[in-house]
Amino acid sequence: MRKPIIAANWKMHKTLAEAISFVDQVKNSIPSPEKVDSVVCAPFLFLERLSNLTKDTNLKIGAQNMHFEQKGAFTGEISPIQLRDIGVDYVIIGHSERREMFAETDETVNKKVHAAFAHGLTPIVCVGETLEQREAGSTNAVVGAQVEKGLAGLSNELAKQVVIAYEPIWAIGTGKSSDATDADEVCGYIREVIGKLFDNEVAESVRIQYGGSVKPDNIGEFMARPNIDGALVGGASLEPDSFLQLLEAVK
Ligand code: 13P
Repeated sequence: MRKPIIAANWKMHKTLAEAISFVDQVKNSIPSPEKVDSVVCAPFLFLERLSNLTKDTNLKIGAQNMHFEQKGAFTGEISPIQLRDIGVDYVIIGHSERREMFAETDETVNKKVHAAFAHGLTPIVCVGETLEQREAGSTNAVVGAQVEKGLAGLSNELAKQVVIAYEPIWAIGTGKSSDATDADEVCGYIREVIGKLFDNEVAESVRIQYGGSVKPDNIGEFMARPNIDGALVGGASLEPDSFLQLLEAVK
């Protein structure tokens, strides 16, 4: 059985005071990590503070991006070593907003996945198709290639620990989530691709989240599907009550 994983992606939201207040409100109500992994991926600026605040709690902290190099002349960038040093456990890699607006490619995603593991971070690797690609019937081809290139070169042991987030781009921030059956089919296809790249045991171990307009009132539909193991949540993760409701729904 794969353990569910719910991750908040706050994107570029909240002030420091708001971030602290959120974490103070939820940190003692997070379900046991035996039932669900609960993660908040916050802006870089808040990570150290949030990681200190959540040290002895069930809430884990993640970043939303990082550079793949350990250090060097990369003005404005943050390295995996720096993230690990301040107690970050997860890192979102290849979110569609970074692919679209910040020139993230499958190659940089792959480098970042390797760098994350090399420094003790768990990567949440985002994949997903545009509306045009979906309408052209190329969803599986697009998503399959993103998975193949993103995970290339990993050992089976590391591949098992990857978290994939399937986020159809047309469902992000639109209030129009994917149909749960359709999302499950794509997640099943991702599992097939992983089975071919690695082996069946890896395919059965990897956790695949759905993302795109997930809310407390629809998360149950997604979690009921065999290939969906959690959610990566934007808008509905910003309020403490709503975040806790998402966790309650899956624990
Ligand atoms: P929304 O939940 O706001 O649609 O955002 C999804 C997302 O992009 C999470 O990474």
